[in-house]
Amino acid sequence: MTYLDYQATTPLAPEARDAMLRWLADDGFANPHSAHRPGRAAAAAVEVARDSVAALFPPGGKVVFTGSATEAINLAIRGGPYGPAAVSAIEHAAVRDTARWFGEDFELPVGADGVIDPEVPFPAEAKLIAVMQVNNEIGTIQPTGRLAERAKATGALFLCDAVQGAGKIAPPAGADLIAVSAHKLYGPKGIGALWVRDGVQLSPVILGGGQEGGLRSGTLSPALCAGFGAAAALSLARMEADAAHVATLRDAARDVLARWTLNGSAEQRWPGNLNLRLDGLDVGRLMSECRTIAFSAGSACASGSGRPSHVLAALGLSAAQAKNSIRLGFGRYTTRDELIEACRTLDAAARSQGV
Ligand code: PLP
Repeated sequence: MTYLDYQATTPLAPEARDAMLRWLADDGFANPHSAHRPGRAAAAAVEVARDSVAALFPPGGKVVFTGSATEAINLAIRGGPYGPAAVSAIEHAAVRDTARWFGEDFELPVGADGVIDPEVPFPAEAKLIAVMQVNNEIGTIQPTGRLAERAKATGALFLCDAVQGAGKIAPPAGADLIAVSAHKLYGPKGIGALWVRDGVQLSPVILGGGQEGGLRSGTLSPALCAGFGAAAALSLARMEADAAHVATLRDAARDVLARWTLNGSAEQRWPGNLNLRLDGLDVGRLMSECRTIAFSAGSACASGSGRPSHVLAALGLSAAQAKNSIRLGFGRYTTRDELIEACRTLDAAARSQGV
């Protein structure tokens, strides 16, 4: 199986798995919120992990562990008095759907290249501007620095969903709230984090024991925290090497798939994403004919959801063009040879459809 779905999730780094095993072992089960010695040891591991995760963000804020980036985004939006929100047309459902919670929300359009204009007008009523760092479907990198600066000038808060960019590119500058997820940076599933700039006031959305500084309740998993911390540290240490490797992979894939049309900007893009289309391509058939390649239909928010992609629609693609699109995602553990082989297989299967 060649795994080409790195935007859906990444493999667990062996280093992250090793860091987790200590807290899954017989003597690693203590509750990190307990005051006794094993509890304090688990709490210390959580705090070491928190410091490693904090290094993904700019200075001047705190890290709140959550169960996912979706939960982090819910806390950022529903935990604040900062509404209504204006969100980009290509946000993940975690932001789009949560922003509707205010009852009124605004959409900020993107260009045909899948990049938002940094000078896009903000609605005067918007108290929260949310624009993602890297799009999960088409990989485009948004001008979050300028948007955050402008949000600040209008007195609005800036939320950045950095799920796809964290540990891969520099953190979004000037944001007030940043959401990330461990499983997109070679860490475990089931843990995310919200970074909250010092001075930004939030109220908890999940009530209970108040374990995360009163902002989020629920017993933390030392294993998940340790895995997240190790994955974050590794991503930061390998940032340049990973990016260089992925750019080499991108070049190799594009060589093989030269006749396919790229959806979204070729330049302002994380190189580990190729969202490609061929007129007339039957993606369902391609998937069933190429069962040894794990990739996504570019036309669905999540594979199998059947929902048409709001991202490809926002670029101005027709429903047919969106249905003719696939998403290839690759990363640290993808080899050039397996990628080239997979791309050849996909292209040959498309040709056998007569496209
Ligand atoms: N935001 C983006 C851009 C994503 O790609 C994802 C995951 O698909 C999420 C948010 C949600 O992350 P999680 O799976 O941690 O809830």
